[in-house]
Amino acid sequence: MLTRRQALKTVTLVTAAFAAGPAAVAQPTSAPAGAAAAPSGPYKLPPLPYAFDALEPHIDARTMEIHHDKHHATYVANLNKAVAGYPMLKAKTAEDMLQELGAGGVGVGLGMSQEMAGLPVELRTAIRNNGGGHHNHSLFWQMMKKDGGGEPNGELAKAVEKSFGGFSAFKEGFAKAGLGQFGSGWAWLVLREGKLAIQATPNQDNPLTQGARVLLGLDVWEHAYYLKYQNKRADYIAAWWNVVNWDFVADRYAKFTN
Ligand code: MN
Repeated sequence: MLTRRQALKTVTLVTAAFAAGPAAVAQPTSAPAGAAAAPSGPYKLPPLPYAFDALEPHIDARTMEIHHDKHHATYVANLNKAVAGYPMLKAKTAEDMLQELGAGGVGVGLGMSQEMAGLPVELRTAIRNNGGGHHNHSLFWQMMKKDGGGEPNGELAKAVEKSFGGFSAFKEGFAKAGLGQFGSGWAWLVLREGKLAIQATPNQDNPLTQGARVLLGLDVWEHAYYLKYQNKRADYIAAWWNVVNWDFVADRYAKFTN
């Protein structure tokens, strides 16, 4: 029930929206914020492949909106800022750079890997954080879908069975990795030397830098779940299984094993 005051306020807001012109009303929901946040540079914020509320009730619309339009957009903007003045990097994707970041070997002393990786030394941290943030989120949106969930099938299901002893055991191990990641980071299902493995990484580090291929990833930064789940990361992880896009994961598995 609306009070008279609320009703008046609603009328005022609606009027104001129309006064701004039909174009303002007809804009697709994700484009203006993304476009505004990535002014110029080679990297672009990809549109979310579904509506903000598509993953409800498991992931709420407001979280998706902020996560995509603000967090992901900021990684893109900062990556563009970082590479400005380095024209030799413009043809490289964030994925290329994350791979090159590890070309000298992760854990090798800085003096050695910098030269070998072929990326400007002073950009390595920005590429790791913002290139990682951009690439990880670009994948993450596609790893989820409306009415997702269930289990993988086909070759991927066989590989899960072989590596983990079954889907339930895989889920348990993956959830444990996500829950056990102290602070911000990701849980991953990766393909490493032809075998499936579970791992977690801190911050925006992508296993690609360590020579593995990502099949599935779960963002366990608080920004991914705090509005709805607050401190209950385990509840977020449990709900997230309902939106996993196994077709996308299976396609990646096929791509990296063929
Ligand atoms: Mn995130």
